[in-house]
Amino acid sequence: GVAASRRAGSYGARVAICEGDRVGGTCVLRGCVPKKLLVYGSHYREDFEDAAGFGWDVAPATLDWGRLVAAKNRELDRLNGVYLRLLRDAGVTLIEGRGRLVDAHTVEVGARRYTARNILIATGGHAVLPTDVRGIEHAITSNEALDLPRLPRRLVVVGGGYIGVEFASIFRAAGAEVTMLIRGDLVLRGFDDDVRATLSSALRRKGVDLRCDVEVADIERRGEALSVMTREGETLECDEVLFATGRAPNTANLGLERVGVKTNARGAIEVNAFSQSSVEGVYAVGDCTDRLNLTPVAIAEGRAVAETLFNNRPTTVEHHGVPTAVFSQPPVSTVGLTEREARAQHGAVDVYVTSFRAMKHTLSGRDEPTMMKLVVERASQRVVGCHMVGADAPEIIQGFAVALKCGATKAQFDATVGIHPSAAEEFVTMRTPRPDPQG
Ligand code: NDP
Repeated sequence: GVAASRRAGSYGARVAICEGDRVGGTCVLRGCVPKKLLVYGSHYREDFEDAAGFGWDVAPATLDWGRLVAAKNRELDRLNGVYLRLLRDAGVTLIEGRGRLVDAHTVEVGARRYTARNILIATGGHAVLPTDVRGIEHAITSNEALDLPRLPRRLVVVGGGYIGVEFASIFRAAGAEVTMLIRGDLVLRGFDDDVRATLSSALRRKGVDLRCDVEVADIERRGEALSVMTREGETLECDEVLFATGRAPNTANLGLERVGVKTNARGAIEVNAFSQSSVEGVYAVGDCTDRLNLTPVAIAEGRAVAETLFNNRPTTVEHHGVPTAVFSQPPVSTVGLTEREARAQHGAVDVYVTSFRAMKHTLSGRDEPTMMKLVVERASQRVVGCHMVGADAPEIIQGFAVALKCGATKAQFDATVGIHPSAAEEFVTMRTPRPDPQG
């Protein structure tokens, strides 16, 4: 919403944003930003431990969780101020309150009505809790997990997607006993199988008790503690249960049905390539359209709408080849196709994989894997997938995403000189494909 308004404002459009909460959205207030600050904050425990191998004597490190959360919140307040200033500087009017469509050109906020030629819906999504778990009201979502006043001693995380592995990692690194319950056999369904296997075992090595093929049936409060019963008959005692079992679009109570804006079975607004809904003049971007639910994608979609409407430049956003990262510990980052997808789309592929211990850990002694993988379409020799689990993976993959965008071939990777010593150089020094089970 903010990105689209600012871009539209820069082309002279008269823009107002209607917001019922603080400005900033999920990313700034309840997602990417506070999460990453907690990733940094929690990771220091390992840094202090690793320092010993390099000759440092560090007194046993302790974390004041409350201070970390307070510091994180101060940064969110600062960012909120920055966003308000950016909107003001772009000439965007902020209307505080919840909006509702009255017709294709009218939004009602409280007792007032505002008319506009174009309306953009960028209402995001929310965490969903399953309805078939008794006692689910005792569970928390990522919203509450970001603001817990005390570090729980024992935490159960349910769900092995982005949010599940990120929060399990944060709380484990911060010192909690973490049990993860997933209903599949590996975390991160949809990611490359080598990534999934590497991260699943890395989480275990860090002390996360990852349990597979389990589902929660019941949660009961027992005094201060919670008791989690699985359908498989196990009982786990803990202090908090975090459900990270997916998110759904925020499209209820927006007046969409009344205006004729179509939504799909999941409640997502249906849009065309220009993010236009089924009603002319009504557009939608970001998680409320449930395309690729990532902040930079939503921003690109919002700006594309502004370019199309106010700069006479019809613009669409490519939803393939989008790099992504999971800020687990160790982190994951990926761009392009998984091996499975590449085989389905291209037939024969060459796969290059390397696993090693990063140089830093030769002295620290830490048993943390780094895994890198390239998937190459055999016929064209184009690199169609690039995957990594290991320190700095998001920083490394961003650059390779450019190479894949340019259609780089394996020979061009080989012709690139590595930066030594680095982990990233492995991506340009892999010579021998893994034996292909499919010949
Ligand atoms: P995801 O859809 O990524 O993962 C949901 C997980 O919950 C899956 O492991 C799923 O299992 C499991 N699950 C779903 N329903 C149940 C159930 N009833 N019982 C047990 N397990 C269940 O959702 P998240 O909430 O983790 O994240 C939402 C989205 O937000 C992400 O997909 C991503 O687009 C975005 N995001 C991006 C981040 C980033 O860029 N770093 C960070 C956080 C979120 P199964 O695989 O078996 O279906």
